Amino acid sequence: MAMFKIAVIPGDGIGPEVTESTCEVLRAVSEKSGHGFSFTEVMAGGIAIDTCGEPLPAETLKTCKESDAVLLGAVGGPKWDALPGNKRPEAALLGLRKGLGLFANLRLAILFPELKSSSPLRPDLVENGVDILIVRELTGGIYFGKRGLAPSEECLEDGTPKGMEAFDIETYSEAEIERILRVGFNSAMQRKKSLTVVDKANILETSRLWRKVTERIAPEYPEVSYEFMYVDNASMQLLRRPASLDVIVTSNMFGDILSDEAGMITGSIGMLPSASLGAPGKPGMYEPVHGSAPDIAGKGIANPLATILSAALMLRYSLGLPEEGIKIEKAVADVLSKGYRTADIVLSGETDILSTKEMTEKVIEAYRAL
Ligand code: NAD
Repeated sequence: MAMFKIAVIPGDGIGPEVTESTCEVLRAVSEKSGHGFSFTEVMAGGIAIDTCGEPLPAETLKTCKESDAVLLGAVGGPKWDALPGNKRPEAALLGLRKGLGLFANLRLAILFPELKSSSPLRPDLVENGVDILIVRELTGGIYFGKRGLAPSEECLEDGTPKGMEAFDIETYSEAEIERILRVGFNSAMQRKKSLTVVDKANILETSRLWRKVTERIAPEYPEVSYEFMYVDNASMQLLRRPASLDVIVTSNMFGDILSDEAGMITGSIGMLPSASLGAPGKPGMYEPVHGSAPDIAGKGIANPLATILSAALMLRYSLGLPEEGIKIEKAVADVLSKGYRTADIVLSGETDILSTKEMTEKVIEAYRAL
């Protein structure tokens, strides 16, 4: 049986509460599966600023690099809001992404059928729930391209001086595109074998290169059926027929926007897991999409499910235990179908509200019963 090293970064706000719950669930996985997990807790975010004077201490990054996977709660809070950008808790996230070479961000937009009334979409559109995986390129494209701001000497057609002029350049190399597309194809292989490559190939040269690379590598994944979709169309289809989309792979900026749109369809931020992956064999980082929720921190009422579902992704993607990941997802579906709710996902008419701890116990119970 394997032994896995997991670096745990509880962070700030509700981060420690939801990571503690998730470690409890992983301990149950260990008991049942026989695989061992050793947890090393390290600091990042506001707590690291208070303790060590910096958001991402070198020791934290070192421990993460030496681990098989990283579990992160959340960082940030009003206490550190006045600090300059590179000193703020959130700078730890950028440092971790860069330090671990995390180029792929996977966000699951899951709407469990039991919670369909939380969705802002019409009930008939989400009748059987939604389960979309968005694979976003994380370290290239326009967010990392050359940029500039300078006064322009030119005028508009009507003679108005242009004034200041700014530019941001989108650049993608074949190698960058290929590695993220492979994450997309491999993810599709683990799911319904259907992949949507989202781009703007009618306008952008970078998108046309994405299409060429897709067509070059697609024959290596003969079981995956793929389609290309313009980003404007994708943003409409997410609302019109969300249940028919499965894995979407796209560039940094398009993924940023579409993953937020897809998350909104579920209506519950406390339910959305994510994974950030680097080169094969390197540790991935797993965290809920939500932040540190300072408004409910320390009350024991945070929904732990997004972090628990992130651990399910960890089992699949970093630890090579997909069947255990699937069991965790089933356990979460089970507790929801039995009507167990934390305060943030309670539906009208439901009165039995569980604490973070109680919800965690229910998930563990359901997992053990599988
Ligand atoms: P947030 O996600 O922390 O909270 C938004 C709302 O959702 C709040 O009402 C909160 O109570 C609720 N919520 C979030 N997660 C919940 C959960 N698990 N259970 C129940 N309710 C939940 O977003 P915010 O308020 O905009 O940000 C708070 C802090 O978190 C800020 O400092 C922000 O910079 C930081 N942040 C960190 C991350 C991260 O660490 N990856 C991500 C987003 C925001």
